[in-house]
Amino acid sequence: MEADISRILIPRETIARRVRELAGEIASTYGDEASGLLLVPILSGSLIFTADLMRELPFVMRIAVLSVSSYRGASTQGGTPNIVQDLKLDIRGRHVLVVDDILDTGNTLRMVMGKLAERGPASLRMCVLLRKKDKAPSDLKADFVGFDIDDVFVVGYGLDYNDQYRNWPEIAVLKPELYQ
Ligand code: 5GP
Ligand code: MG
Repeated sequence: MEADISRILIPRETIARRVRELAGEIASTYGDEASGLLLVPILSGSLIFTADLMRELPFVMRIAVLSVSSYRGASTQGGTPNIVQDLKLDIRGRHVLVVDDILDTGNTLRMVMGKLAERGPASLRMCVLLRKKDKAPSDLKADFVGFDIDDVFVVGYGLDYNDQYRNWPEIAVLKPELYQ
């Protein structure tokens, strides 16, 4: 796997430090409402981020996963995202925090936030590990952002290329010849 990596964009210590800070931002934003929190990670990209983030959150909470199809390889053109596995519980009246790996075109999170908003949560916020800063859509504001990055295709720490490289522990860029 190491032979396929061209450069490390964000090393693991930097990720770990920022994830701890994000947890602090989340805890102070929710304040007394934190213990009613429902974390909604979008699979599979946010798997590792969520696992680390939730262990830094020092209060009782629930978690319910949502699976969205957004296959597009290394393309920067987003396809039409669909919920392929919906939440198994009712979010009405709950404080919902959606967690995703990356905000790129925003098509995925726009669809997810729209659908969840219709179900009457007490509050609905969004946390992303990464945001492509030059592409971030103006109509979709992330409440918590780990890192703003340039418009490059990254893998690792949960992010995939053709469903591989999710287990690479850092945010990295693959060698260009692999993106075929
Ligand atoms: P959006 O709908 O915002 O365009 O893209 C959201 C999804 O596209 C992300 O959840 C992720 O699965 C995928 N994606 C967007 N940019 C990247 C990237 O740089 N690397 C990887 N691995 N996936 C990306
Ligand atoms: Mg993906």
